[in-house]
Amino acid sequence: PVVTRFAPSPTGFLHIGGGRTALFNWLYARAKGGKMLLRIEDTDRERSTDAAITAILDGLAWLGLDWDGDPIFQFSRAARHREVAESMLAQGKAYYCYATQQELEEMRELARKEGRPPRYDGRWRDRDPATAPKDVKPVIRLRAPTEGETVIHDDVQGTVRWANKDLDDLVLLRSDGTPTYMLAVVVDDHDMGITHIIRGDDHLTNAARQKQIYEAMGWEVPHMAHIPLIHGPDGAKLSKRHGALGVDAYRAMGYLPAAMRNYLVRLSWSHGDQEVFTTKEMIEHFDTGAIGKSAARFDFKKLENLNGIYMRNSTDEELLAAIDQLLPHIPNGPDLAAQLAAGNGARRSQLLAAMSGLKERAKTLVELLDGANFLFVSRPLPLDDKAKAMLNEEARATIALLLPRFEALTEWSASATEATVRAAAEETGAKLGSLAQPLRAALTGRTTSPPVFDVLAVLGREESLARLKDQAG
Ligand code: GLU
Repeated sequence: PVVTRFAPSPTGFLHIGGGRTALFNWLYARAKGGKMLLRIEDTDRERSTDAAITAILDGLAWLGLDWDGDPIFQFSRAARHREVAESMLAQGKAYYCYATQQELEEMRELARKEGRPPRYDGRWRDRDPATAPKDVKPVIRLRAPTEGETVIHDDVQGTVRWANKDLDDLVLLRSDGTPTYMLAVVVDDHDMGITHIIRGDDHLTNAARQKQIYEAMGWEVPHMAHIPLIHGPDGAKLSKRHGALGVDAYRAMGYLPAAMRNYLVRLSWSHGDQEVFTTKEMIEHFDTGAIGKSAARFDFKKLENLNGIYMRNSTDEELLAAIDQLLPHIPNGPDLAAQLAAGNGARRSQLLAAMSGLKERAKTLVELLDGANFLFVSRPLPLDDKAKAMLNEEARATIALLLPRFEALTEWSASATEATVRAAAEETGAKLGSLAQPLRAALTGRTTSPPVFDVLAVLGREESLARLKDQAG
């Protein structure tokens, strides 16, 4: 059975590339009826924080990506890592190296002079530890093959080869007895029964070194898929401005998790020319073989458009639920949440009633809430500059003309108020728009909003008439 894993280092938020890696591992596991495990790679004690762990778990939960079993914390497994290093030592697959800092520095210096990457020269490979200096605490190094090649058959990168003479004897255990990252990853992947490693292609070179450890231990090497990193729209490394943000930032921008998943899955993976996938379809079609080799380009416009599609395809109730989830994460959210909760849910019902008009005009939940602003402001309404300019004397007279006609209505609905305004337009020879625009400004404090008759209906008779009276000339 397939077992994948997501193995983030908790040194920062769950960034967008990490979210995609998690998604691919999750999809692959779900597609194959397997499991996805979560391993928190917290061995860097200085940089790992609890806040980052929380942010990662939170980000995964928001994206709707669950894992099987309990998370594994890498640092807690240090004794096991040490045990493996020592067993390699006992089998002659590894050796004590007593090279001093100064000797290592000399090796680096030589490499600099010769214009090549630094490599440990193997000076303790075959030396008798009895001859070791007493004051140096040794590290344990892998006795790596010096001839031939290390070859990875990668699902995405194809066959990749390294000449073993270019790969030096890597350190497995530091002189203080702590495992190196390279050892920890291999031991954990082996012990967790990982069958497929799907991760960023920045780990491709690590894969070669890790394979040498697998081979030294006689362990089966997992399948590998190293996926291209996400680049900016200009092809350069992804910058903050171009989307290199935490998953939580996308939540705060008002994207829906389902749209985000759909957007992420299409970064480097494709299925014909299909763009919109339900999660079920993603699981059905996902395979690592269909992941492209070239860097994916992050494109905010595309994400926005996709999100707009998901918003329009959501029911009003689903959007209301998504808004409830969003509010704790945006600046004015707590205030809006309080308003929605107050007065036995009157605002909440208004928002729900306005939802179908609002969702047509918004590409994100934040835009949608902005469109719903008129529900959350109270009289006297703050007017933006355009609304102020719009509400000149003539506009106020228009409002005064319409007011008694609205007051006379027996039924308050979008169609009733629309009929009233149409009749007034016909009588006075004015264009419908020239009557509607002053209404809009007076009712919302802005010059753009959902259709003004919907606004009247959602606000209700009393509030609508009061707002209009405030501005009538
Ligand atoms: N912890 C590594 C990272 O965050 C991933 C290691 C792996 O997937 O093997 O980049």
